[in-house]
Amino acid sequence: MDKRLSWDEYFMAQSHLLSLRSTCNRLSVGATIVRDKRIISGGYNGSIKGDEHCIDSECKVIDGHCIRTIHAEINAILQCSKFGVSTEGATIYVTHFPCLNCTKSIIQSGIKEICYANDYRNNEYAEELLKKSGVKVRKIDYNNDLIIARMLKQ
Ligand SMILES: [Zn+2]
Ligand SMILES: [Zn+2]
Repeated sequence: MDKRLSWDEYFMAQSHLLSLRSTCNRLSVGATIVRDKRIISGGYNGSIKGDEHCIDSECKVIDGHCIRTIHAEINAILQCSKFGVSTEGATIYVTHFPCLNCTKSIIQSGIKEICYANDYRNNEYAEELLKKSGVKVRKIDYNNDLIIARMLKQ
């Protein structure tokens, strides 16, 4: 029998699952916020309530970025604020390295650790802010194919 999934694999798999709900054509991102090994929130990059989805019309691209969507990390943090759940001391698992704006919000929300699977346009200033703030950053060695293969075996 295969070994149990590690916590890192489990939470990262959850973020990858969430990314499949993304409504943007450019990149599918998922984020899971975890406290004391419990999932407290999740998000993916998608449109504001009431706006069209990129996948139904097209992306709104300005300066090389789609500006239509709220990013996965922010959606996950907003879910916490909507339901009154503290993010202090939490860990966030994201499929891709967060952009500068998400990094700033993550730091300010009291999240203490970022685990990510893929490098993506890693912003130098974001990395500097993370260092200054003391937020831990870990790149997780994550293989979606291995997880899926294990699911199919059951
Ligand atoms: Zn888009
Ligand atoms: Zn972002």
